[in-house]
Amino acid sequence: MNDTPEIDAADAKARLLARRQELVHLTEASVEARRPVELDQARVGRLSRMDAMQSQAMSIETDRRRQVEVRRIDAALTRLDDGEYGFCASCGEAIALKRLEFDPTTPVCIDCARDPGA
Ligand SMILES: [Zn+2]
Repeated sequence: MNDTPEIDAADAKARLLARRQELVHLTEASVEARRPVELDQARVGRLSRMDAMQSQAMSIETDRRRQVEVRRIDAALTRLDDGEYGFCASCGEAIALKRLEFDPTTPVCIDCARDPGA
């Protein structure tokens, strides 16, 4: 077992849970924006319909990224519970605190992130 990095697990967990809640809330709040664009040409002009389809596509992409982040958060929470949080999932070395502060969901150290094949 490695030395325990100077990580406040409770603080990290609180941050991850808060971010997760925010993402879930944003996802719920934007359900309308992802609904298929109405094909009713009488009500919506051609240009505004293209606008609507474009913003719907953007909303779907934004939501997809949110889901990816939620999965990263869940994985980080699992590592916290397992006592593996803060250690690189690839090489096992402690992840720099600054890196974790910047992205609390990161599963790998800076070296492995730069060179995944190493
Ligand atoms: Zn590593």
